[in-house]
Parts: sequence; structure tokens; C-alpha cells
Amino acid sequence: MAAEMISVDDAKKVILKHAAVLPPARFALQQAAGMVLAEQIVSSLNIPAYPQSSMDGYAFSFREWKEHKSLKIDGELAAGSNETFTLPPNNAVRIFTGAPVPPGADTVVMQEKIKIDNDCLVIEDENILSGSNVRATGSEIKAGELALAKDTLLTPAAIGFLAGIGITEVLVYPLPAVSIIVTGNELQTPGQPLLQGQVYESNSFSLQAALKQLHITATKVFKAEDTLETVTRVIEEALLQSDIVFLSGGVSVGNYDFVAEAASQNGIEKIFHKIKQRPGKPFYFGKKGNKLIFGLPGNPASVLTCFYEYIEPAIKKIGKQNSALLAMQAPLAKPFKKAAGLTHFLKGFYDGKIVTALNAQESYRLSSFANANCLIKIDEEITTREKGDMVEIHLLPV
Ligand code: AMP
Ligand code: MG
Repeated sequence: MAAEMISVDDAKKVILKHAAVLPPARFALQQAAGMVLAEQIVSSLNIPAYPQSSMDGYAFSFREWKEHKSLKIDGELAAGSNETFTLPPNNAVRIFTGAPVPPGADTVVMQEKIKIDNDCLVIEDENILSGSNVRATGSEIKAGELALAKDTLLTPAAIGFLAGIGITEVLVYPLPAVSIIVTGNELQTPGQPLLQGQVYESNSFSLQAALKQLHITATKVFKAEDTLETVTRVIEEALLQSDIVFLSGGVSVGNYDFVAEAASQNGIEKIFHKIKQRPGKPFYFGKKGNKLIFGLPGNPASVLTCFYEYIEPAIKKIGKQNSALLAMQAPLAKPFKKAAGLTHFLKGFYDGKIVTALNAQESYRLSSFANANCLIKIDEEITTREKGDMVEIHLLPV
């Protein structure tokens, strides 16, 4: 049996090899957060579009002030003001942050650094220079300049930047459409009473939450009872509407584990079944055309471990994002022992200096995972690790 199992590193490589970028599509800017640009964006406007006050204060001509020292205050310009106003010679105008600095003025003094004497402005700012507190036209970006390059990840800041130059739609690499099929006759929906022999169905909840962190929100959830006919039919239905299908449970060797057989009946090509790891040994990976099928062992900690270690990197590759979980080395807080043969992924907490393997590592338990911020990878052949030994940790997304 062990000879058929694929190693953790090979499993990762094989999955990534089969994960292909989806063709670019146009999205409304608000829908494109977390996706990668498939085009470069050039600004069609100067931003700011006019010289803009960056302070609440008074606008004036620096040269006139140097000559006369006292300027007559007249009028007011608030943000959003669309008056056509030209500053008369030897005047200053009350102005607020964001308002257009009028022709005739080139400098703004903060309201904290002035005195008013007989309706005249007296400036008490030793550091003021010509152009102080004025954002020049096009100083953020000029018409015709590159705003964002192709392949830029649309972070919240990038989305705001594009909105700020008037962009409403972008060509991006879409994220995959995902379906989740939960199998298991014992599963009960949270909110319903838990009857004898039942467990609350939690895997669709953790998976949907994990997908949300990747900006995948329109996930479809199917429930399938443990028969070959049902699992086969539900896989067929899920494949019609998704790029990726997750199955939870039914992927092991029990009499009610029909996932591998049902996948094969749907013409899915098995790429591998079983990885030399704990948790998540029975993990199944298959492919039909460009669609990827992940059979996740039903135990809740296995589901999430497999998601973070294998599926998240695949989804990121499909969306043309290059970052996977952040891997680093950290010293172990306590010694650790295991048998050789399987790579272990331990739920860990890294405090910035040392990493602690948490209690409750069993794959049916999520209490430790719920408090973990990393997975500790202990390689296949390793049997003991001492306190202070450096181990590889994979930081979980927050
Ligand atoms: P299986 O992989 O189907 O043998 O399931 C392994 C364990 O995970 C069993 O104890 C199941 O009851 C449990 N399990 C399976 N699916 C879920 C689920 N969706 N939510 C919570 N527990 C599950
Ligand atoms: Mg089951």
C-alpha cells in the first residue's frame, strides 16, 4: 500500500502542474478585488484634475505676499466648489482641503499658522514656500501614464487607486468557480437537533470560509448520501457548473466510500489517490478536461490541511497569483516524536519567535486548528525533533 502513495512534495508539484490559468474576462471593478490584472491600465485623466488644497487655510499668491506681506481676505472655496473664481491681486481666499486652488493663487497656508488683522491675512509660517500645501494637477498620475501594470494583484489599495482615476471595469484573470459536495449519511445541518449517530456538517462551512479569504464567494454546496449512484449523479451536476469540485468524505477505503469510483464513472482521470501525510492520507486528485477534482478525507482537520497545503496554491495559480502560504523556519517550543513514513502537518502557533505544536492534533478535531496560525511541516523520514530545533512552518492566511 505504502508504495502507491505519493509524497507531499510530488503531490504539490503534480497538482500545480495541472492547475491552468483561466482565460481573462471583464469584471466590474468592485467584483475584481483579489484578482490579477490581465491588461495594463493607463490613466485617461490628470489626477488631481486641478490644483488642490491639501489643507484647511488660505490660498494666495506667494510672490504677492513676499511683496506686500499683508493680503486682503475675501471669499471662500470649499471642497466640491465649482465656481469659476479668480483670485484678485493682493487678495487671499479662505480655502478647505480638497477645494480647487484658484487662478491667481499658488500657495496655501494652514489655518493654524496665520493671524487675521483688519480682514487681512498675516502669515506666521517660517517654512512656507511657493506651492506649499497645493497638490499639483497630475501629481498623483498624468493622463497617458501607466497606472497599474499587467499582472498586478488587485489589493484593496489597487481597487481604490483605480476607482480614483475613474476606472469602472477591468480585464482580469478570473478565479475558479468552485462546488463543494459533502458526503456522509451521518451529517446533520447545524441548527437542527443532533440525533443519535449524527455529526454536524462542518466541512462546507470551513471550506466556504477558506474560499472567501481567496475572494471566491459564489460557492455551490451539494449534499450527497453515501451511495454510488447519488455520489456519481451529484459529481456530474457539480462538474457542469464549476472549474473545481471538492468532495468531502467518502474517499477512504470503507464500504461507504464511493468517491473514487463515482469520479471514475464520470470520466474523471485519477491523477493520484493517497499522500504520505498525516492528516489527510486518503486525499484524491483527479482531472476532467481543465476541471480539477479534489477528494478530501472527511475529517475536518484533514479537509483544511489539504485545502491550505494543496488547493490554495492551485487556486492562486489558476488566478495567476504567485503567492502560496508563506513558508519560514522557526524553533520548536517543545520536543516532538513521530514514526517515520508520513509527513506530519501539525497545527501550530507561532508567536514571532518560537512555534508551539498545539494539543489536540487528531484529524477529527478542529479545536486546535481554531487557535492555530500556522502548520508545522515535519518531513516523512524525521522521527524526533528537540526543543529549539528549526522546523518549517507555513503561515495560515488571517
Ligand atoms: P469519511 O472520510 O467519510 O470516512 O469521514 C471521516 C470522518 O469525518 C467521519 O467521522 C465523518 O463523520 C466526518 N465527516 C465527514 N464529512 C464531514 C463533514 N462534512 N463535516 C463534519 N464531519 C464530517
Ligand atoms: Mg463518510
